[in-house]
Amino acid sequence: MRGPLTLPRLKELSERALPILEKHFPELLQDQTFLAEPSDNYHGLVIQCDCPPDDRAGFTKCDCQWHPLAGTPMIGGMSGYEELEWDEETAHEALAKNLEWINRAAFMTEAEWIEVLAMAGMTPDDHAKRMAWLDGEIASLDTPTPTAAGLADGGGR
Ligand SMILES: [Zn+2]
Repeated sequence: MRGPLTLPRLKELSERALPILEKHFPELLQDQTFLAEPSDNYHGLVIQCDCPPDDRAGFTKCDCQWHPLAGTPMIGGMSGYEELEWDEETAHEALAKNLEWINRAAFMTEAEWIEVLAMAGMTPDDHAKRMAWLDGEIASLDTPTPTAAGLADGGGR
C-alpha cells in the first residue's frame, strides 16, 4: 500500500486481489463480496488524483478520497464487539492489510507469493522481517536485516 495510488489502480489491484483472496485466503473474506456502486461505497486509502486542493493545508478532500470507482471489488460485513456495524473495504485493502499478519498460503508458489506481496508494496524480505517482528525475534521493524547489517559492518570502522 505504498506509493501513489490512483482510483483506477485501486480498482485494478482489487480485481487482482479478489480471486487471490477467494482461492488462497478465504478466511479473510467477510459476509459479502460485491462491486462498488457509484459514490455509495468507501475505501480507507489516500488517493492520488488531479483534483485541486481545497483547504489551506493543501490536502484534497475530493470524492476520490472516499469512494472507489464503480465496479471496484469490495468486501464487507458486520463487525464490532459491543455494537455491530457495517464495515467494508476494497479487496486490495483486505489483502494488503492482512499480508502484514499472515504467512504464505498453502499451495501458493513462490512466484505467486512474490507477485501478491508486490501488490501490497512488499518484498519477501519485508514480509520475513515483519513475521520475525511478530514472533519477537527482532525488537523493531527498523532493525536492519542480518544481510544489510553485515554489509553495513563490513566497512571495518
Ligand atoms: Zn480527487
